[in-house]
Formats: sequence, C-alpha cells, structure tokens
Amino acid sequence: MKRPFPLGVAAAVAGATLLVWQPNPVWSAPVKTGFAERDISPAIGMERPGGYGKGFHQKFHDPCKARAAVFDDGERTVALVGLDALLIREPQVAEARRRIHEKTGISPEAVLIGASHSHSSGPTGMVLPGEFDHADDLVKDLAYEQSSAADPVYLETMIAGIVDAVAEAHQSRQELRLGFGRGEESKVSFNRRWRMKGGLSFTHPRYGNPEMIEPAGPIDPEVGVIGAWDAEGQLKGCVVNFACHATTSPPGISANFPWGIEKVIRGTFGEKVVVVFLNGASGDVTQVDNASPVKQTVGADAAMQVGGSVGAEAVKVMLGLKPRLTTEARIDVRRQVLEIPRRKPSPERLERCRELVKAKPTDAAALNDWIWAKEIVLLQAMIDQEPVRQVEVQAVQVGPAVFVTNPAEYFCEFGLQQKKASPFPFTWPVSLANGCVGYVPTTEALGPKGGGYETRLTSYSNLVPEAGDLIRDAGIALTRELTPGPVPAGEKVPPFTGGWQYGDVPPELK
Ligand SMILES: [Zn+2]
Repeated sequence: MKRPFPLGVAAAVAGATLLVWQPNPVWSAPVKTGFAERDISPAIGMERPGGYGKGFHQKFHDPCKARAAVFDDGERTVALVGLDALLIREPQVAEARRRIHEKTGISPEAVLIGASHSHSSGPTGMVLPGEFDHADDLVKDLAYEQSSAADPVYLETMIAGIVDAVAEAHQSRQELRLGFGRGEESKVSFNRRWRMKGGLSFTHPRYGNPEMIEPAGPIDPEVGVIGAWDAEGQLKGCVVNFACHATTSPPGISANFPWGIEKVIRGTFGEKVVVVFLNGASGDVTQVDNASPVKQTVGADAAMQVGGSVGAEAVKVMLGLKPRLTTEARIDVRRQVLEIPRRKPSPERLERCRELVKAKPTDAAALNDWIWAKEIVLLQAMIDQEPVRQVEVQAVQVGPAVFVTNPAEYFCEFGLQQKKASPFPFTWPVSLANGCVGYVPTTEALGPKGGGYETRLTSYSNLVPEAGDLIRDAGIALTRELTPGPVPAGEKVPPFTGGWQYGDVPPELK
C-alpha cells in the first residue's frame, strides 16, 4: 500500500513555482545548434569525491570536461551541459546559470546541467564550503575535516568551464541538420540491488553470495541520441543519454566511462566532435554484475567496456539517422521546484550517534559504524538549517525529444515510468541535474522488503519516501505541457515507375 503524502509535501507542491512560456504553435525558422567543451580537470592532490570519507587524486588518466550543446529555434534557446563530475550542487548551478544569462541571454530556467556522476572527477561536493558554519565545533570538524568536501578553487574552475562552454556553443551556433534516434545496449549495466533470501534487498551482495535471489530492480538499456551534422555531412556534435553509475574508475583523474563513449564516437566521426553525455536514471544501476560467474574487468578496461559499448551503439544510431535529418525542431522548456521534507533521525539514534562520533576508531568495522554515525550527526545539523529541500524538475524539449531532469541518484524504475507516460517519441531522463539531493529510491526500496546502501539515512540521502513519486509525476506533468515535434521522416521515395529490368526475370537454368 502506498503511504499518503505528508501534508507539508502536498501543500508545498500545490504552491510550487512554475515557469510557463506562451504557447507558440508556429515555428518555421531553422534551428541553430552549437557545441563546445572546456577542460575542467582537477589538479593532482585535490579531493576525489565519491565516498563518505576523504580521498585524494594522485594520477591523471583523461580530462574531465564541461560539454555543452545549445539549440535555438529563433524564439527560444536552451543549453544542455554534460558535466564530468560526481555531482553539482544548487548554488553552483545558480551561479553558472546567472553568468550564462549575462553572457548569452539564455534564460536561467532553460539551462540544463547534468552531472555524469564520474567517481574519478573533481571536488564538487559532498560538503560545500561554509555549509556547516552554523553548527557547533564537533559538527564542523566532522563536516570539513572528516568528510568529502568541495574545493572553492575547483568550484570556480567548474563554473567558469560550464559558462565558457555554453557561451562558445551559443556564439558558434549555426544551421545544422539534426537527427533523433535510439539504440539498445543491454550487456554493460546491471541493477546493483538484489532481493535476498532473508527478505530484504541488499546493494552489491557480491559475486557468489548464496543468499541472492534476483535483481530488486530493472536496468534501462536505451541509448538515446541527438546528432547534428553540417551542410558538408560532418557530424559536429551529439547528445547521448544512457543510465549507469560512472564507477568504472580508470586509474587517476578521469571522465570515467564517458571517456570511452567519446573515444569511440570521435574515432568514427572525427576528433572535433563534441559528445554531451547526460546520465539517465541510474541511482541503482552499475557496471558491476553481481551474478557474474567470471571476474569482471576493472579500471580503464571497464570504462572502455561500458563507454565503448554505449559509444558504439550511439555510432550505429547516428549512421542510421543520416537519411532522416531536419533543420526544424521546436525548442521549449518547463520547470518546477518541489519542496520535499527530509527524513529525520529519531532523538535516541541521534544521541547514540553524537556519543559514538566523539572518538574515531581505527579498525575497519568500528570505523564503518563511525562513518554512518557521523552522517546522522551531520544530517541533524542540516535539518536544523533546512528541514525541507527545494527539488528542481525540468523538461527541456528539442523537437521530438524531451529531457526530463531530477537532481537525484534516481532509481531506474522511475525513469522507465516517465518514458512510458510521456507524450514524446523520445523521453530521456537526466539524473543529478541542476543540483543534488542524493539517492532517491522507490517507496518499495524504503519499505519493509527494501534496504541496502541507497536507503541509508545520511546527510547526503534523506528525502521522505514519497520523494521519488513526486519527482516522477512532476516530470511527467511537465512533458505533457509541451507539444512534441514530429520525428523527422526523411525524403519520400519517388512514385513507382516500373521495376528493375536487370532483376525481374525467372531463374535461368539453361
Ligand atoms: Zn552513486
């Protein structure tokens, strides 16, 4: 049974801010499209975010980038930014949008910034500078000294990279021919949550665990692609959407598996092609196959297996699109901000955790308990400051395609549900977009048969169980406010004027 929404949520949703542009049924100007990218690689020695404690970069493998596509139909302009980052927090999104608006005139609401969730990228979180300044010294120490923390120098590098990439994409926009399509890559991603014999669901039960019954959720094999070609037939850039955690982690600073996507696409179409990767609903999807009977590849090989396979599929899609390109695409956007409360730790648990964090143990098991206790203490400090979170949902239309965003590590099932309910021929969810509210699991995963890693209560993931449904429904509602454009049909074959005279005779045996 579904739990009723807490009153606060329903009321807040009803009063949410809504951006509505005037409907415009006529659009005839050819769409102008531009692409650009900037290197936003962190420096060696900077923090490597991705866990609940600190880690540091020691090597470089391949550049992290801000990759931008701008689409302008003469009336409206949108920017899609694929960011090689674990996550991007709301204040940095607001600042990037402000500067983009200043430089290009693009409306802040029309800028989509999606983090790829690369676990080998720069320090953009989890804790922001100053975020816990309101709290006591114990909390400040736990947040700034014991947790993964963003670097103010790096945040500026990232924002400047985003803004410059969008500005150049905007500046260089030109009449390109667009193609829209989808492929399927079903062998490189796996749901990482498993139903266990004990009745609960666990995350990464690990190879050979005899308690595993079946995956607790789906994957989404769809590879969504927009390609853009110039008049000479050269691919200038593309947008690729696929759902998988970017945890392959080549040795060192890296875009993670999007590195492999880019390598394969550039290998086919040229080194100047900009590849804007937007990660789908991948909160519970990973490259690790917990049921694999053989040891899987890791590091750069795994990044290339996932990214290369997705990139190869995108190449196949684009090769097939060429007969069906268009210069017309309606551009539009809708946006809504939901207000969703956080889950609160019980006073008893909070008390226990405050006690436990006072002494940091050294042995692994005790340290594990200490980390989760630290998270509860940090969470309470966040609740004191902000008990309800602003959660942005956005729908960005490019012709027959719509990108539906969530600022979460959003469970895969929600993305599939959005695809099914959307009126668009192509619906591509984008996770960790325009902010970060941590994992947003299904109500089932947060129910009596749920559990695992994503459902832990932390300073990172803490929205009420209904959050996922609210975000899903808001996204679907936004897609329904838009008018899908047609899928480019291509040039019709000429009327039949007679068969091929070399090929219309009976078999010749003598
Ligand atoms: Zn994650």
